[in-house]
Amino acid sequence: MIIPMVQFGISDKDPGGQMPTSSPSSRAIPVIRVSVQPIAITPITIFENDLENRLKLPRVVCDEDCILQLLGKTCRYPFCWEEISVQKKHIGSTLTLQWHCKKFHQGSWSSAQCKSQNGYPFFINNLLFAASVFLSGNSFSKISLLCQFFRLNSISQSTFDRIQNAILADIGDRPVVLAGDGHCDSPGFSAKYCVYSLMDIATRKVVDVQFVGKRETELKSPRMEKLGLQRALTSIQKKIKVIELVTDASISISAMLSKDIT
Ligand SMILES: [Zn+2]
Repeated sequence: MIIPMVQFGISDKDPGGQMPTSSPSSRAIPVIRVSVQPIAITPITIFENDLENRLKLPRVVCDEDCILQLLGKTCRYPFCWEEISVQKKHIGSTLTLQWHCKKFHQGSWSSAQCKSQNGYPFFINNLLFAASVFLSGNSFSKISLLCQFFRLNSISQSTFDRIQNAILADIGDRPVVLAGDGHCDSPGFSAKYCVYSLMDIATRKVVDVQFVGKRETELKSPRMEKLGLQRALTSIQKKIKVIELVTDASISISAMLSKDIT
């Protein structure tokens, strides 16, 4: 799990709606019988510029037990010392906790902010996880394997694919102008790896990323960018309608675009 901050009790609820005023020993035990229903994590409204700031927050890796220690074993409601029952659930890289005591006090907590998108709630950590895999030029299966060894909860392959497809679905049939550029691990002729990205200029969303190794280009570093662009365009042209590409003024890339790409 990836934990941006720890805040317990932000959505604690008292079913009676009144604050207790006496100690447990002198207080009458409520006789009403109500079943404790699971509490839904309430999505909050996060505006686009605020979302950007939230995505930049530092994150830490934390043992699940350490979080449960913070929650404690007794009810957090004032003047209630009942033992609590905790249900935990993993939603992608996010941990959610729901607790209740015998006196029907209840609360919930999640390790990430929950945002509503087109009526569907999603945790921004899960979105960031998918984006991080994509933008670092990694394959999902490799990162997923790393998470398995590390015992780190991650989003599923289907969620990862769904997030990518949502970006392309937003574009739909609209003709797209793309900006492309390659980033190598080091400058000049000593680079071993290159990540080539294509971005939709209108929405500033990255629509494709390709990873190229020097061994694929006969150990010639300058050829990696061209191969990355070639792969990215071949892949993205099957999914969206590209009408224009903006890239740097490389002679080899200009030649390739005029010959190979239609
Ligand atoms: Zn309680």
